[in-house]
Amino acid sequence: MLPNPGILKLDLAIRGAGLGDSLRARHELLHGRALRSPVAKSAKSIELVLPGDVLVSTPVGESFTNDSPYKLMQDADRFLLEYEGEPAEVRVVAPPSYYAKKTRSGIPMGRIGSSYGPYIAINPAKRCGFSERGTQCRFCDAATQGADRDEPIPVEDVIDTVRAAFADGNSEFVYLHIGYVDSDDAGVEFIEPYVRAIKRHFDTLVAVQLQPPRENRWIDYIYAIGVDAISYSVEIHDEKILESVCVGRAKQVGRPRYYDALRHAATIFPNGTVWSDLIVGLEPIESTLEGVDTLVEMGVLPVLSVFRPLSDTDLRDHPMPTTQDVAPVFAYLFERVKEAGINMNWVRDLSFAMTPFEARYFSDPNAIVPSGLGPLYRSKLGNLAVRNLSRLRRRLRVRQVNDSYGSSNL
Ligand code: SF4
Repeated sequence: MLPNPGILKLDLAIRGAGLGDSLRARHELLHGRALRSPVAKSAKSIELVLPGDVLVSTPVGESFTNDSPYKLMQDADRFLLEYEGEPAEVRVVAPPSYYAKKTRSGIPMGRIGSSYGPYIAINPAKRCGFSERGTQCRFCDAATQGADRDEPIPVEDVIDTVRAAFADGNSEFVYLHIGYVDSDDAGVEFIEPYVRAIKRHFDTLVAVQLQPPRENRWIDYIYAIGVDAISYSVEIHDEKILESVCVGRAKQVGRPRYYDALRHAATIFPNGTVWSDLIVGLEPIESTLEGVDTLVEMGVLPVLSVFRPLSDTDLRDHPMPTTQDVAPVFAYLFERVKEAGINMNWVRDLSFAMTPFEARYFSDPNAIVPSGLGPLYRSKLGNLAVRNLSRLRRRLRVRQVNDSYGSSNL
C-alpha cells in the first residue's frame, strides 16, 4: 500500500520514480525544459497529483531515480504508481500547452514561464548576479541552465505568457523570482513594472522571491506596489555551511540580513504571506529545526524543499537525505507553524517543496484538513474574499508609505 500522501510526496521527491515502458518515450510529459527554473531545484520531472490532491514534482530519468521503489505506468488513459507490487491511481499534469506558443516578439513562452501546480513561475531578469561573480549557490544550476540573456524579458511578453498560462486553466497565481541584484533595492524597481502590469491585466495574486534589499523601506515599497506574498530565502540556517554552499548569499548579502528582512516583512505583509525556503539535507537536521524555529518565531512561514544533487552543479555527488531521517522535520514544521498561528493557506500546494499545510500528514497520518482551515480557502469565493481583504489592507499601507515618502522627500 502507498504511504500517506505527505510521506509519499517526500519519498517521491527524494527517490523519484522509474518509468514503465509505455511512458519512457512520452517526453511530452516531462517538465524539464531548455530554460530550467532554479525555483524547482530539479531537473527532468513529472508533475503528479497524489491522493488527497497533493502535488509533487517527481524526478525521473536521473541517475538517482534508477533505484527508486516507485514505478509510474500507463494503463489506457489511467496512470498508476506502483509500490511494492501494488498499483495506485495518480494523475499526471502534462506540461501546459502554452510552453509551445510564442509571445508577440517571438519568444517561446516555455522559456519565460514554468508552471508548478497553481503557480506560473517567471524570472524576467537577465541572469543571477551571484553567478556573474562566480559566487552562485552550489546546489543551483543557474550558471548553466538558468536565465542568461542580453536583455530582460519585456513586460509585454511576460503578460502574453501569463495570459496564455491562465487560458490553459491550470495556473491561477504568478510567482516572479529573480536572483541577486547588486543594488540597494535588490531588484525591487526592476520587478515593479512587471508587478504593476500583471495587476493591471489580471485579477490574481503575485508572489515575489528575491534577495533582501539593503534597506527595509524597499520591503514597504514592494508591498505597496501590489506584491501579495514575498520570500527572502535563507536556504541554509547553519552559518558555516551557508558560507561554504552559498558564498554569494553569505558574503554579498549576509545571513543576518535575510532574517532581518524577513522579520520586517512579517510586520508589513498579511499573516502567512512571508515565507522562506530551507533546504533539507544540506545541513544537520538539528540545524534545520533551529531554522524552522527562528522563522516561525518571527511570523515567517518556513517552506522545506529536499536537496537534489543536480548533475551540472558542484554538489552533484553530495549524498541525498533519506526519507526516514528527514520525516521528523516535517512533523515539527507543521506543529510549530500551527502553534504559532501562522496562516498556512497563502503558500500551499507547491509541487517542488513541502509547505506546512502539506506537512500535516507527518503529524497526523489521517489528516484531511487541519482544524481552523475550512473549505472556504479552496473555493473561488474564498480566494476572492481573501483578495479583497488584501486590497483593503494594502490601500491603508500605500497611504502610510506615500505619507512617509512625502515627508522624507523620496
Ligand atoms: S540566488 Fe542562488 S539559487 Fe537563486 S538563482 Fe542565484 S545562484 Fe541560483
